[in-house]
Amino acid sequence: MNSFIYSDDNKRYYTWNYYLRHRFNSKVYKVTLNAGFTCPNRDGTKGIGGCTFCNELGSGNYTQPSSVDLLNQYNMGKVVMEKKWPNSLTIPYFQSYTNTYGTLDRIKECIEPFLSLDEVVAVAIGTRADCLEQEKLNYLNECSKKKEIWLEIGLQSKYDITANSINRGHSYAEFEDCIKRIKQTNCKICVHIINGLPNETKQMMIETAKVCNNLNVDAVKIHMLHITKNTALARSYLVNPFPILTLEEYIDIVVEQLKVLNSKIIIQRLTGDAIKEELIAPFWTLNKTVVLNEIDKKMARENVIQGMNTDGKY
Ligand code: SF4
Repeated sequence: MNSFIYSDDNKRYYTWNYYLRHRFNSKVYKVTLNAGFTCPNRDGTKGIGGCTFCNELGSGNYTQPSSVDLLNQYNMGKVVMEKKWPNSLTIPYFQSYTNTYGTLDRIKECIEPFLSLDEVVAVAIGTRADCLEQEKLNYLNECSKKKEIWLEIGLQSKYDITANSINRGHSYAEFEDCIKRIKQTNCKICVHIINGLPNETKQMMIETAKVCNNLNVDAVKIHMLHITKNTALARSYLVNPFPILTLEEYIDIVVEQLKVLNSKIIIQRLTGDAIKEELIAPFWTLNKTVVLNEIDKKMARENVIQGMNTDGKY
């Protein structure tokens, strides 16, 4: 028996799988792509060094090198996924760096080939709130007539004091303006947030989750902060270690966030994917199954569901 209206299994939150199965009537998986963009926060336009937690792969840990043609990257990714889920539908996911940081022509060149593939049901594009100028948004809105367009925007924290400390390179006000402009289109929005950023309290993380309600976004990805090699964060952590959330603390915070997140918001992720050899801390993140199971167990034990502390209040 389902525990939650928007879940086909024992989850007590609105699962991404549930959305995809009911929307497209099929198994759907993402295929990650590296289009070779960079980021204004890394190339000196906004700053140098990028977000302190970001490595040289630009948050695209499992993508191919950008020298490989995009359609080839896609086909190689599909071969791997088809072994697990044959005859499924797909979402090409432009994951590495900031995929709208370039000319409109360059963006069109990357996206266009995927709009005519039958098995592609949507295109997901990872980007920043300060890199979605109106002409690009207008183009993506046009694309949404052919395929669902998902814009994945990194917020991490709603607090500018935290954003400054992690060198995010734009303000919360810019994020909010961007989300409101996307809401004028048919593109869908997935907001990325990070728990465990330095000096953040549990209440701050819960308040960041509430932003997703207030701005009426479609989906959220919640990650634990990973400290990985060759990042500014790792350098400062190794000299001056700061407190890292334990698994129990992370579970507790995520469950509180789910309780305040509106039940109509799809949960695309509740854990991240660090490369084991690159990870400095925390190692408990490597066992994703344990993290997800502990979230399920706590929600069942306490008889809580997504949105129970929010629906009707925001
Ligand atoms: S915006 Fe993304 S790609 Fe750019 S530095 Fe931050 S995490 Fe890395």
